Amino acid sequence: MRVVLLGPPGAGKGSLAGVLKEQYHLSHISTGDMLREEIKKGTPLGMEIKALITKGALVSDELVTKLVEQRVAHDPDLKKGYMLDGFPRTVKQAQDLDQILAKANVPLDFALNMEADADLLLKRLTGRRVCRKCGEIYHMTNHPPRKAGVCDACGGELYQRTDDNEETIKARMQVYQTSTQPIIDYYAKQHKLKKLDGNLETVDLAKALAAMLK
Ligand code: ADP
Ligand code: ZN
Repeated sequence: MRVVLLGPPGAGKGSLAGVLKEQYHLSHISTGDMLREEIKKGTPLGMEIKALITKGALVSDELVTKLVEQRVAHDPDLKKGYMLDGFPRTVKQAQDLDQILAKANVPLDFALNMEADADLLLKRLTGRRVCRKCGEIYHMTNHPPRKAGVCDACGGELYQRTDDNEETIKARMQVYQTSTQPIIDYYAKQHKLKKLDGNLETVDLAKALAAMLK
């Protein structure tokens, strides 16, 4: 399965990616994760990226597309299936992606769009905590760790992303509407658009996915 995950911040792309990884063994390509890795390195480029992410703005198409292009060229598991999470985010990225995937001979099967209610998106994002070590995602009320601030899976420290505060979330939603939403149409025109209900929590989302793929 070769799929792009679409939807506003908080719709559940990350949770769905977890399900797809576990049940379908797909390579997970997340540009958000790749960019946060770059920030961790503390390079000048990392600092620039951090400033953009912290205010909820997009990183340049050129930079992100280059990261994806390199990953596609060097990931030996890609032929077994992949999911792109957080990319493409603009129509330009979607167009370039089609070329990159065609060149690597692994074209998309479909794009999976998830929408959810605005108040739910906000609650999910403000309550989200992430493991610094393994990337596991928790939620303060929906899915708290057994011990506060500590990852169940690996014992790592949980933290809140710098862009998961109300002000930045508003900016991210705005950017989503103007820059990213047009992509839905782009894939609809290619007859590659499928939908899942982003209001569902992970267990039900996994069921809906299984039903959809049948
Ligand atoms: P979410 O889907 O929860 O908003 P991501 O982890 O996908 O979070 O992205 C976090 C931030 O990283 C974005 O707000 C943006 O600043 C940057 N980013 C990630 N992917 C892209 C992309 N494809 N193009 C431009 N910026 C990106
Ligand atoms: Zn962990």
